Amino acid sequence: MATILLVEDERKLRELVRSYLERAGFTVLSTESGAEALTLATDAGPDLVVLDLGLPDVPGETVAREVRAAGSTPILMLTARSAEEDRIRGLELGADDYVTKPFSPRELVLRVQAILRRGSPADGQAADRYGDGALVIDQSRREVTVRGDLIDLTPTEWGILVALATVPGRVYSRFELINRVRGYEFEGYERTIDSHVKNLRRKIESDPASPQIVRTVLGGGYRLGLTRDG
Ligand code: CA
Repeated sequence: MATILLVEDERKLRELVRSYLERAGFTVLSTESGAEALTLATDAGPDLVVLDLGLPDVPGETVAREVRAAGSTPILMLTARSAEEDRIRGLELGADDYVTKPFSPRELVLRVQAILRRGSPADGQAADRYGDGALVIDQSRREVTVRGDLIDLTPTEWGILVALATVPGRVYSRFELINRVRGYEFEGYERTIDSHVKNLRRKIESDPASPQIVRTVLGGGYRLGLTRDG
C-alpha cells in the first residue's frame, strides 16, 4: 500500500487527515515542519506528498519546489488561500492538485486516490510509438521515452500526454484535458493546464519555444503533433 507524507502544522487537522488516510489503507508519515518534510521526502521515498502551503519554518512553496526538483512524486497542496492566483501558483510549482481549507477529509482521501490511480501502470498493453519512434508511450510500464531518453513525468503531465496521444492530431480543449486528467469534477482553470503543459514541454520538446510534440491550437486547446506509427 502507498505511503503518504503529510506535512501540516495544525496538529488537530494533521491528526484528522492522518486518521482518514490510515483508515483508507495508506501508511502515513506526518510532520509539522517543512525542514523535516524535505528530509522525509528524500529518505522515506513517499508515493505522494500532502503539503500545507503555510508552514512555520520552511514555506510550503519551497518544499514543493524541492520535491519537484528531486523527482516526480505527486503533490496535493492544502491551501488556506482562496485567491485564484494563489491556487494557480501552487499548481505552477508542479502540484498535481490542491484543496482549499476548510475541506472534507473524505474528499481529500478521494483526491489522493485519484492522483495515485492516474500514476499507476495499466497492465498488458504494448507501447505506442509516434513520429517514427521519436515518442514512445508505454502505459504498462508507465514510461515515456523521447528520442531514446526516458522522461520523468508527474502524474498530471503523464495524464495530459496520454490524453493527447489517444487520437493524435485531434484537438483537445483545456476543459476536456482537465476532466480527462483528473477524472472527477474539478474546479478547473484553463491556466492550470497551460502551466502543466509548459512543464511537460520543458521535458519533452527539443525546443520548448517551438513545440513539435504538444502543439497549441489557437482558440482550441492542444493536439499531439506526431502521428502514430504502424
Ligand atoms: Ca499551516
